[in-house]
Amino acid sequence: MMEQKSTSNLDHVRQIKAEIRAIEIKKQQLQKQLKSIQQTCDHEFHETAILRKCRKCKWTESVYY
Ligand SMILES: [Zn+2]
Repeated sequence: MMEQKSTSNLDHVRQIKAEIRAIEIKKQQLQKQLKSIQQTCDHEFHETAILRKCRKCKWTESVYY
């Protein structure tokens, strides 16, 4: 009984870890896409007290130098 439960936990853990890995790969791809959009954007900044934010691509820059 104990043995069965721990085996089932292990399968579940493996499945979760595989999903986490897939999500991390997807996240990296999305970050790369976002970065490429922001790098090629002709920024149109909207300034706030603490940062500048592009209206077109959401790129933010600190106003403090
Ligand atoms: Zn932009």
